[in-house]
Amino acid sequence: MILIFFGPPGAGKGTQADLISKKFGIPHLSTGEILRKKLIDTDPLSKKLKDVIDSGNLVSNDILNKIVASRIAISDCNQGFILDGFPRTIVQKDFLADFFINNNLKISKIFDLRLSQKKINQRIKSRFNIEYRGDDKEEIIKTRIFKYLQETKPISDYYSLNYPQNYYLIDADQEIQMIHSDIIKIIKNCDFQ
Ligand code: AMP
Repeated sequence: MILIFFGPPGAGKGTQADLISKKFGIPHLSTGEILRKKLIDTDPLSKKLKDVIDSGNLVSNDILNKIVASRIAISDCNQGFILDGFPRTIVQKDFLADFFINNNLKISKIFDLRLSQKKINQRIKSRFNIEYRGDDKEEIIKTRIFKYLQETKPISDYYSLNYPQNYYLIDADQEIQMIHSDIIKIIKNCDFQ
């Protein structure tokens, strides 16, 4: 089962992907998490990455495509995986399409988490207070939301148009457990390809 989660910052993609990962025993590939782990290093590339992430902008497609390709190649992904935070741009979407064709992989379900602007702000504020994520600062959030609308929402719109049978819009204004159960209901009707 291969799942992709979309949604603006604060929609709860990571939380929901984690719950599904634990329930079904497939890895949760969060590109944001993979990048944040890399920031612990002090080499010049990590320093450059930190600057980009802390500004709320997107890291280069080349880096992301390599990260995702090498992560999917690890054997724990053989039974499926969950993409959270990828693809985020047209270049990444096209890369993923080629990668899937070359590796005989198919997207099972795409979950697009939607929530109101008011909730986006509330969720991110509370996450900043709990996790102290540098890129959750108010001024940086504006850039991240702008980047989402400019670069990533067109990608989820593309999937909704071109893969309507795999695409599900999820009401992410609800409580975590309600969102989770909406997702579970959809997965239970899935033929686990
Ligand atoms: P996230 O945890 O998914 O919100 O990602 C945090 C930050 O990591 C983003 O604001 C970007 O700077 C970077 N990032 C994560 N995934 C990607 C991606 N697919 N393409 C470019 N940058 C990314």
